[in-house]
Amino acid sequence: TPLLSVRGLRVRYRNAGRPFEAVAGLDLTVHAGETLGLVGESGCGKSTVARAVARIEDDVSGAIVFDGQDVTRARGRALKPYRRRVGMVFQDPIASLNPRRTVRDIIATPLTLAGKGDPAEVRARVGELAELVGLHPSMLERRPHEMSGGQCQRVSIARALACLPELLLCDEVVSALDVSIQAQVLNLLMDIRERQRLAMLFISHDLAVVRQLSDRVAVMYLGMLCEDAPVDELFGRP
Ligand code: ADP
Ligand code: ADP
Repeated sequence: TPLLSVRGLRVRYRNAGRPFEAVAGLDLTVHAGETLGLVGESGCGKSTVARAVARIEDDVSGAIVFDGQDVTRARGRALKPYRRRVGMVFQDPIASLNPRRTVRDIIATPLTLAGKGDPAEVRARVGELAELVGLHPSMLERRPHEMSGGQCQRVSIARALACLPELLLCDEVVSALDVSIQAQVLNLLMDIRERQRLAMLFISHDLAVVRQLSDRVAVMYLGMLCEDAPVDELFGRP
C-alpha cells in the first residue's frame, strides 16, 4: 500500500456567493521514503491540496488514505495517529509559530499533544531536534519574532519532526526566504530526509527547487493534474 493516496479530491469554495472548485478531481500517490513534488502556477490549487491533506480544509470530497486508513472524515481522537505520522511545514515561518511561546515550547507541542508529557524526556527530545535542524541551544529560549525567517523555518521543521513522522508535508516552505537562506533550508530537508527515510509531499511554484529534490513531479493546472511523472522523464537527466 502507498503511504499516502489521494483519490478524486475535490474542494469547493464560494467566491462572492458562487461555488468555485479550487481542486477538481485530483489523484496523488506518495510511497514510503519517496518525494513527490507538486508544482503549478499561483492560484492553481496547490495550497488547497496541502490544506486538505493536512486536514485543515474540511469541506472536501474524494478520499485521503494514509497507510490504508481513510482519514478524509476522521476527527478528534481518530485523527491523532495521523497528526503524529504526518508532519507539516507551511510557507510563512513567523505566522505559523505562536508569538507568545518560546521556541522550546513550540517544538515540544506535538510531543505534548501526543501525550508524551514527561518533562525530562521532552526536554531531551527538544534538544535533539534543535541539533538536528541546526538551531543553537540558546535559541530555545527565544520567541519567534526574535529570530530570522530561516531560523523560524528551522523551528517549524523541528516541530514537524518531533513525533518521527513518516511523511512531511511542505507547502512553499522556502518561498518567503531569501535565496541564500532557501538553499540552506532545502539542504537541511534533504539531509533529514535521507537520515530518517522520510517521504515528502513538496509543494512549490518554483520548478527549479522541485526538480532538485523530487523523485516524481506532479504538475497542477486549474485544480487538476496535467502531468505526473518521474523527474528524469519530465526534465531529462541533469
Ligand atoms: P496555489 O496554492 O496554487 O497558489 P490556492 O490553493 O491557494 O492556489 O488557491 C486556488 C484557488 O482557490 C485560487 O483561485 C484562490 O483564489 C482560491 N481560494 C483559495 N482559498 C480560498 C478561500 N478560502 N476562499 C475562496 N477562494 C479561495
Ligand atoms: P498554541 O497555538 O497555543 O501553541 P496549539 O495546540 O494550538 O497551541 O498549537 C498546535 C500547533 O502545533 C499548531 O499550530 C500545529 O501547526 C502544530 N502542530 C501540531 N502537530 C503538528 C505536526 N504533526 N506537524 C507540524 N505542526 C504540528
